[in-house]
Amino acid sequence: MSDTASKLFVVSGPSGAGKGTLVARVREELPNLGLTVSATTREPREGEVDGTSYYFLTPDEFQRRVDADEFVEWAHVHGHCYGTLKSEVERNLLQGSSLILEIDVQGALQVRERMPEAVLIFIKPPSLEVLAERLRNRGTETEDAIALRLSNARRELALQDRYDEIVVNDDLDEAVDQLIGIIENYERN
Ligand code: 5GP
Repeated sequence: MSDTASKLFVVSGPSGAGKGTLVARVREELPNLGLTVSATTREPREGEVDGTSYYFLTPDEFQRRVDADEFVEWAHVHGHCYGTLKSEVERNLLQGSSLILEIDVQGALQVRERMPEAVLIFIKPPSLEVLAERLRNRGTETEDAIALRLSNARRELALQDRYDEIVVNDDLDEAVDQLIGIIENYERN
């Protein structure tokens, strides 16, 4: 047994910065790290499974849960609502494991307000040009949706100073190592 403490890690940054892939890789290496399933009002993409990828809710159902104070944080992202349910966070914390939330920047700053002990990690692309290229290569978004994500990215990059740690996702393997290093370091302290 190690003498590590469980911590709440919040990973965010612009869409297309590679957060999802990074977090998936880190979880392979650190299988004890809990991950919450977020709720969203956006439509499922091909291959996404309700309850695993997201909880896909209607706008009315999402609002009902906001009114019932069921979210730790929630935000409008790219024209849809996304949020972390308290039940998801509690489920993980009860298991005594550290937890990693992968959420947008507005949500991360709400978590900071509610849970000041959370460790905020900003994942950033090497440049806005690289970000645009990644979003296009993904092929899941229209040009309008990409333009919206890029203008959001500019605003989000301006908030990186409010984070505890910054990881530049240029080389994926290096970024994975860096993120694991950060997590292990906070768990030791
Ligand atoms: P996507 O639609 O590509 O799955 O996600 C779009 C954005 O929503 C990403 O930047 C992702 O981090 C963010 N997001 C996903 N889940 C949550 C959540 O629970 N809360 C917040 N605030 N943002 C989320």
